[in-house]
Amino acid sequence: MDARAKRILFRTYWSNGWIDRDARSTPPDEFAYAKSQGVMFDPVTWTHDESIAAVQVFRNPELARAVGAGFAASLSTRRVEWRSALATWAMAEHLPPHTWTPVATGHGYRSGEVVSTHYSCEVCMDTAEQQLVSSVSEHVDLNCLNFERLKWGGVRLRDLSYVRFDLEQFVRDEHPPTQATDWDILQAVLDLIASMDKSATAGRLVRELKSILPGTVAEHRQFVDVLATAGVLRPLRRDRPEHLRSDWGAAGQWHAEDRYDSGRVSQFFPALQRSRR
Ligand SMILES: [Zn+2]
Repeated sequence: MDARAKRILFRTYWSNGWIDRDARSTPPDEFAYAKSQGVMFDPVTWTHDESIAAVQVFRNPELARAVGAGFAASLSTRRVEWRSALATWAMAEHLPPHTWTPVATGHGYRSGEVVSTHYSCEVCMDTAEQQLVSSVSEHVDLNCLNFERLKWGGVRLRDLSYVRFDLEQFVRDEHPPTQATDWDILQAVLDLIASMDKSATAGRLVRELKSILPGTVAEHRQFVDVLATAGVLRPLRRDRPEHLRSDWGAAGQWHAEDRYDSGRVSQFFPALQRSRR
């Protein structure tokens, strides 16, 4: 990752907080440089059908081990951009080739009257690991997606455009081999999950990660969201109230009594057991 290109991208979106949409700009020479390094991109319009076709190549069991290794290698290095492919691979895993199949998901109202209807694709919503949100065609700011990916490890994990973008970036990047420290951290996280008080929620897990995993609270929240979206943290009951306070995404109904899905752990991290002394 070229440091100057990354700085250019970050300065476009962030200055002690999000820069207002209208105030964002990148000087043309800097944009050209960041683009030449594969860190910034021209705007694109992606259709649902193009993105569904593009992600088919990633529905490959071999890639589960690669995204697992990338995720593990991110732990000691804090290269958060290698984390979200664990989630986006899981979103793509069961997604069949199909065309846009609209279903109304909500309405916009003005003075009590319906003025617009929102649609998503029924197949995407019903067949991915979590409900995948898509639109028939979308102007996508790949720079914003890449900023979120590099700063926190992805935000829109269940959005078709992000799934496509993230997997395309993941296979393009080079990842260093995992270190023993990475496996120690991952095992410590799993041991923590296995030992927490049964009623503990995702928020509690995030707080307890502080002593195990390098990084900020925002990074730890994304880490938990990635594990939940990937099916490593899987709620065993669906009748619990959603975690209040904020949007916990896939981890909203997880409680520590659900522990972790050991099948998913062996699928993503087959080296974990071998690495233990
Ligand atoms: Zn679809």
